[in-house]
Amino acid sequence: MTTGVAILGATGSIGASTLDVIERHPDRFRCVAVSANRDVDGLAAICRRHRPAVAAMADSQAAAQLAVELRSQGLPTEVLAGPAGLLAVAECQEAEQVMAAIVGAAGLLPTLAAAHCGKRVLLANKESLVMSGRLLMDAIAASGAELLPIDSEHNAIFQCMPGAYRCGAPLPGVTEILLTASGGPFLDTPLSALPGKSPDDACAHPNWEMGRKISVDSATMMNKGLEVIEAAWLFGLPAEQIRVVIHPQSVVHSMVRMDDGSVLAQMGQPDMRTPIVYGMAWPERLDGGVKPLDLVSAGPLDFRAPDVERFPCLRLAQEALVAGGAAPLVLNAANEVAVQAFLGGAIQFTTIAEVIDQAMQQSGHLDSPNDVDSIVALDADIRRLTGELIRQREGRRHHA
Ligand code: NDP
Repeated sequence: MTTGVAILGATGSIGASTLDVIERHPDRFRCVAVSANRDVDGLAAICRRHRPAVAAMADSQAAAQLAVELRSQGLPTEVLAGPAGLLAVAECQEAEQVMAAIVGAAGLLPTLAAAHCGKRVLLANKESLVMSGRLLMDAIAASGAELLPIDSEHNAIFQCMPGAYRCGAPLPGVTEILLTASGGPFLDTPLSALPGKSPDDACAHPNWEMGRKISVDSATMMNKGLEVIEAAWLFGLPAEQIRVVIHPQSVVHSMVRMDDGSVLAQMGQPDMRTPIVYGMAWPERLDGGVKPLDLVSAGPLDFRAPDVERFPCLRLAQEALVAGGAAPLVLNAANEVAVQAFLGGAIQFTTIAEVIDQAMQQSGHLDSPNDVDSIVALDADIRRLTGELIRQREGRRHHA
């Protein structure tokens, strides 16, 4: 009997790695449902190859095109559209596992739906945990769903824990966790050169191949900041027990310092198929097609403290975790808008952090919304506020 896997964000980088793992183990897994936003050609190719029962596209026009395309090829896949289509993928009866790999806040509702349905949730979409940690963790606990972290750092920490450990509970015997960070493409760039960096420069990550949003987040180190908040929810730890360490080689994927002085680390190639196949096969281990790590040729492994002047986004995220309430949600929404503006050429690289800081200050302390409608509404408010802040800056630039 094979395990049915639904993939939210099937056309993305994590989606591709997940499909690769499925193809390597046809006796164990089958792809039963997939989603994308607008990439009709990408999703059509996946449907031809994997013949899922359901394919959904967030964009209705794209969904209509996909339906025509699949029908002309005589494929049996049912095509759905819009938010309801994404929910249908998350809730698909044939899926025991759901890979949550939509980028950004758009992943929140489908990820929550998978949690409510009691699926094994393979969580790549860290933004949903940052926005609504309490709701997602409560949904997992209430439905008996399994939560397996796919982010390589959190997956590494999970792998360092005893076999009986489940996410959401405090980590037994742990003094602190050490989240490693490559430092991204601008780790050693002179600070004066940062404002002139282009979206392509920011997306040229030295070790990992990823989608553009997370690549920019890695360049600003907001990615690590979001991961600090993600770790607090997954492992039940306060901010002071989550430390970030720069490790440019990306060989050690994270570490756990135990009460007895031991430091446990998980190491591997920078290849997302390791955490993906781990999450899918857990508690077993399977081959994910990842080449073996050769520590001799990997060379020396370096570790250093992060430079907060270079990476203000990391500080903003750490402050948001300490502030609590809706601060992580505000941080995430402002970041998504600022990153899109940077990718679209509207603001400079260094303006990303400035805009987020401004949005956080202007929104002040807000209590954490405790239902999904309030979360979605506040996310939309902060997006509007951040968009306005960016327009004001552009206006000032044109007048100058
Ligand atoms: P990509 O940009 O490569 O892919 C994003 C996927 O989400 C695509 O399938 C895209 O569809 C879909 N999507 C985008 N916007 C929407 C929307 N509004 N509604 C529905 N679907 C949408 O991202 P990644 O695969 O790199 O990242 C996915 C998630 O995994 C992110 O949360 C990221 O932080 C996390 N992650 C990624 C890692 C990596 O190595 N890539 C590592 C750890 C975590 P379409 O193609 O049609 O646009």
